[in-house]
Amino acid sequence: MSVTPQIVWLRRDLRLADQPALAEAAANGPVIPVYVLDDETPRQRRMGGASRWWLHHSLAALDRDLRAKGSRLILRRGVAAQVLDRLARETGAGAIHALRHYEPWWRNAERALKEALPESVAFQRHDGNYLAPPGSVLSGSGQPYRIYTPFWRALGQHMPPPLPQPAPVHIAAPASWPDSDELNDWGLLPTHPDWAGGFRAEWTPGEAGALERLGAFGLRAADYAVRRNLPALEGTSRLSPHLHFGEISPVTVWHATMAAGGSVSTFLGELGWRDYAQNIVLQRPDYASQPASAAFAQFPWRNGAEAAADLSAWQQGRTGYPIVDAGMRQLWASGWMHNRVRMIAASFLTKHLLIDWREGERWFWDTLVDADHASNATNWQWVAGSGVDANMFVRIMTPLGQSEKFDAAGYIRQWVPELAGVADAAIHDPEEAGCRPAAYPRKIIAHRAARERALAVWASVKGG
Ligand SMILES: Cc1cc2nc3c(=O)[nH]c(=O)nc-3n(C[C@H](O)[C@H](O)[C@H](O)COP(=O)(O)OP(=O)(O)OC[C@H]3O[C@@H](n4cnc5c(N)ncnc54)[C@H](O)[C@@H]3O)c2cc1C
Repeated sequence: MSVTPQIVWLRRDLRLADQPALAEAAANGPVIPVYVLDDETPRQRRMGGASRWWLHHSLAALDRDLRAKGSRLILRRGVAAQVLDRLARETGAGAIHALRHYEPWWRNAERALKEALPESVAFQRHDGNYLAPPGSVLSGSGQPYRIYTPFWRALGQHMPPPLPQPAPVHIAAPASWPDSDELNDWGLLPTHPDWAGGFRAEWTPGEAGALERLGAFGLRAADYAVRRNLPALEGTSRLSPHLHFGEISPVTVWHATMAAGGSVSTFLGELGWRDYAQNIVLQRPDYASQPASAAFAQFPWRNGAEAAADLSAWQQGRTGYPIVDAGMRQLWASGWMHNRVRMIAASFLTKHLLIDWREGERWFWDTLVDADHASNATNWQWVAGSGVDANMFVRIMTPLGQSEKFDAAGYIRQWVPELAGVADAAIHDPEEAGCRPAAYPRKIIAHRAARERALAVWASVKGG
């Protein structure tokens, strides 16, 4: 093994196991693992507040895990390509290893780094954050897919993925460590007010926390198809922030789920959505800001003071629709929202309130611990009806019907304490049942009026 240090550039791949960049570096020399807090790369999308909370704890966990293997994490701040180029020169590194990332700004940063590095430093990129490398699943005519179902079918041809690789047993340290920032100086955690109490209760960021979630989910995976739509239950894996930050590889999740046995195809199909979303954003890097459908180019979304007040009511969970409010409050308190309720809340914003999906996408970006450029944009465009593969705009979810159908009484009770005294049968629509407590807001718009307004707007858009 050479004594020339090998840098590992960590981003959303904060794990030791099944981490090909780390494995390759560890096999070739002493390793310098580095995380660069980059709020400055041009056109960079700054991480939202909830993600920063997660990042802080995930970096702390990664540093602990690295130290247990004889290594540590170096922290630097600035434009990633410049910081890494400097670090390589400073340490005499022979190579920088990284997993490929597909956010448009990371692709730019990877190009910039390749150009900046002297010839003596190799830039080696590896795959490992998706079931199959984004861009590799193509139709018979060599085209990328736009629609989920054929994409998923074609992805199946690449499955099962190769078995996950264990963490390196030992990670050699360089002769001397370069300087590192202090994590606490980065100010990633909220101070006044500290809104993260619910986050601490719910989550354990880091690879060990991810494995624990996976283990707990393995016991229920076979019931996923039945329970995943019931927000009152813990029916889904809650692995999304761990997957987003790469604390566990999707390949590890795939194999563990298969090993758990039972009927797991529905779950694997959801995991496939994550790959699908990244493949769409690879084709359309501006997907978080540009609707794919031409009908939405000039869509008359509501603007002005009244729409702003409605947006604020939605964000605060004070719309008067208990299922929507429960979801928005779960999001604020814990940084996560159940998928079924995400769909209901997103439909409510874009159709009942006729507010631009990009407002919702931005709010989720700031408040979700799993905020993911590709998954967030793809799902918002899907619900709004503006995406390459999307629900039709005229399919307007009925929040009250959804609430009853998916048995949300317990969920509403958990997140909307003002309704604690309301009976199960009335809790989905206490206003209609005549038992709305004074502390709980009236509906900001009646369902029927909202539906008619949305359909009329759509007719005007289609009619030109
Ligand atoms: C409006 C809206 C916005 C969303 N924004 C995000 C986001 O920013 N980040 C994010 O990870 N998911 C997003 N989702 C998708 C989905 O809601 C979450 O992935 C899921 O709720 C996470 O919970 P879980 O880990 O228990 O999922 P499980 O049901 O256990 O699924 C396992 C994994 O599959 C992936 N997955 C499941 N459903 C989807 C999906 N529809 N699209 C993409 N990946 C999926 C996730 O990585 C998830 O952890 C969004 C959905 C909607 C409707």
